Amino acid sequence: MCLPFFIVKPNYKSNMKVKLINYTPNPIETAFIAARTCYSGDGPEKLWELSVAEDENKIPDEKMHSLLDNVIASGHHSVLEHINFTFAIEEISRACSHQLVRHRIANFSQQSQRYVAVKRDAFVVPDTIKSNPDAKIIFDELIDNAKKTYDKLVDIGIPKEDARFVIPNAAKTNIVMTMNFREIYNVCQIRLCTRAQWEIRELFWKVKAELSKIDELKGLADYLQPKCVILGYCPENRSCGMYPTREEVLGNDS
Ligand SMILES: Cc1cc2nc3c(=O)[nH]c(=O)nc-3n(C[C@H](O)[C@H](O)[C@H](O)COP(=O)(O)OP(=O)(O)OC[C@H]3O[C@@H](n4cnc5c(N)ncnc54)[C@H](O)[C@@H]3O)c2cc1C
Repeated sequence: MCLPFFIVKPNYKSNMKVKLINYTPNPIETAFIAARTCYSGDGPEKLWELSVAEDENKIPDEKMHSLLDNVIASGHHSVLEHINFTFAIEEISRACSHQLVRHRIANFSQQSQRYVAVKRDAFVVPDTIKSNPDAKIIFDELIDNAKKTYDKLVDIGIPKEDARFVIPNAAKTNIVMTMNFREIYNVCQIRLCTRAQWEIRELFWKVKAELSKIDELKGLADYLQPKCVILGYCPENRSCGMYPTREEVLGNDS
C-alpha cells in the first residue's frame, strides 16, 4: 500500500470500546472482483471463482492488491462499497454519538433512552474536566442534580422519554454501526484530523486499529488517514502544523 502509516495517536483515557464484530467475508476478493468486472470480458462469477480458487488458477494476491491500489489512487471508490464492517461501540457520550450519526452512508442501532433508564455512573467525563479538580466539582454537581431531577420526574410518573430531557450530552450510550469501506475511508479523512473533536477522533482511531488487525484485509486499513496525509497538505483554516497548508503547497491562487 502506498500511503505512509502516519497519524498522531490520540492520548485519551476514555473507557470507550470499539470492537469489530462482523465483516464481509473475503473482503479483498469482493472489492477486487467488483473492480475487475468493470474492465474484464469475463463475468463476475468466473472472476470470483478465480479470486478464491485454492489451486494454481488463483488470481495472485499481489494482482488483487495492485488493482485496489490503483482504484483507490484514481478515486474509483464505488468498488469499496461492496465490503461492510459492523462495529460494537460502547460507552461513548451522546455528544459523540450525535456527531457519529451525521454520517449518512452507514447503519446505526442505538441504545434507547426511552426504554433504558439513565444510571449515575453512566456519564463520560472529558480529560480536561477529569484533570482539573475545580472543573470536576462543578461537573459532578451538575450530573448529580440532573440525575436526581431525572429520578424525581420518573418517580412521579413522567415517562423516561420525557424525563431524559434533563440529561446532559455526557450520558453514555451504546451503538452498533455498519459502514462500508468507502464511507470509513471518507469519515477517517475528517475524523482522524487533529481538528476533529477528541472523542470521535478516538473512536475512528479505534475503528482503524480494529481493521488493522484483520490479516485478510492485508493492509487496506493503511489507507485510513486524515485528509492531509492523502492530499499532501492541510486544507483546514487552522492547521495543526503537521502538514504544510494548501497555500504553501499550491500557492495563493489554488
Ligand atoms: C471538524 C468538524 C466540525 C464540524 N462542525 C459542525 C458544525 O459546527 N455544525 C454541523 O452541523 N456539523 C458539523 N460537522 C459535521 C459535518 O458538517 C458533517 O455533517 C459530517 O461530518 C458528515 O460528513 P459528510 O456530510 O461529509 O458525509 P457523510 O454523511 O459521511 O457522507 C459521505 C459523503 O457522501 C456524500 N454525500 C452524502 N450525502 C449526500 C447528499 N445528500 N448529497 C450529496 N452528497 C452526499 C458526500 O460526498 C459526503 O462527504 C463538523 C464536522 C467536522 C469533521
